[in-house]
Amino acid sequence: MRIIVPIKQVPETNAVKMDEVTGTMIREGVEAIINPLDLYAIEIAIRLRESYGGEVLAISMGPAKAMMALREAIAMGIDKAVLISDKSLAGSDTWATSYAIAAAIKRLTNSPDGPGRNSLGVADWGGGFDLILCGERATDGDTGQVGPGIASFLNLPIGTYIGKIEQIGNGICRVHRLIEDGYEIWELQLPALLTVVKEIANPRLPTLRGKQKAKKVQIPIWGPDQLQVQANQVGLQGSPTRVVKIFRPKVARQGQKVLATDERTISETADHLVKFLQQKDML
Ligand SMILES: Cc1cc2nc3c(=O)[nH]c(=O)nc-3n(C[C@H](O)[C@H](O)[C@H](O)COP(=O)(O)OP(=O)(O)OC[C@H]3O[C@@H](n4cnc5c(N)ncnc54)[C@H](O)[C@@H]3O)c2cc1C
Repeated sequence: MRIIVPIKQVPETNAVKMDEVTGTMIREGVEAIINPLDLYAIEIAIRLRESYGGEVLAISMGPAKAMMALREAIAMGIDKAVLISDKSLAGSDTWATSYAIAAAIKRLTNSPDGPGRNSLGVADWGGGFDLILCGERATDGDTGQVGPGIASFLNLPIGTYIGKIEQIGNGICRVHRLIEDGYEIWELQLPALLTVVKEIANPRLPTLRGKQKAKKVQIPIWGPDQLQVQANQVGLQGSPTRVVKIFRPKVARQGQKVLATDERTISETADHLVKFLQQKDML
């Protein structure tokens, strides 16, 4: 099987700060990690390779330091990786991000260099791929749009919120899709894209051998030339969404505080609460 895992490097904090002028995230001075929800996609990809054979390739789009995330994925057991990075890609929204990642996947699998050639710096996957496995969402951007975006640009069947891959065979993948009160069973024709949830597998830790491999492995960096996209189709220019304003919403609730300190005020407070709820048609 050939499996592609797009992973995002995110700040190691939930308190993401935004630049109010440019509308982009402030990444300076914040430790960066693999998006925690992508670790589940990495794990299940490695398990599938262990069961069915083949190769797993990770792709990340981001600044140069996203290379660290790819090396960590290799230390966990991913075979190879590609980094999409160029200043023309900075400021990409979810559309431009999905578009660039989809272009990289097309380039990887429809290489004009011929079978076995390696001019893009990774083995040619001219025969195509079987699965793309994404995380459910990134913990910083939090839209969950990039997986479906890639599927749409590549015209692939997509299964979201996948908690189990039950079976793969005869060009079909049978999966459990989590819903609020249980799960649905879906069958998708391969190649397909799945976004996975944490129920799918417990991520393993990087091994010492993996870390040694990760240090040495060559990870190619692709920009618009290798992706064969125009610079104006990516980055801020290629992004149809704009951050117009960033602000913390003001809480406009007009709270009332009633203090109950003794038996009399407890009883009065209870009466007050009952009246209040009746006025609001809540009782
Ligand atoms: C106008 C505008 C400008 C922006 N500028 C920037 C910017 O300069 N820098 C920045 O980091 N963000 C920027 N963003 C946010 C950026 O669009 C998203 O962070 C990015 O597209 C991913 O979306 P998300 O974080 O919601 O990921 P989600 O859609 O929630 O991620 C879902 C899954 O998709 C995959 N995935 C997501 N992003 C990547 C990636 N980059 N590489 C590989 N796989 C990925 C992962 O598997 C992930 O689990 C900008 C947004 C807008 C609207």
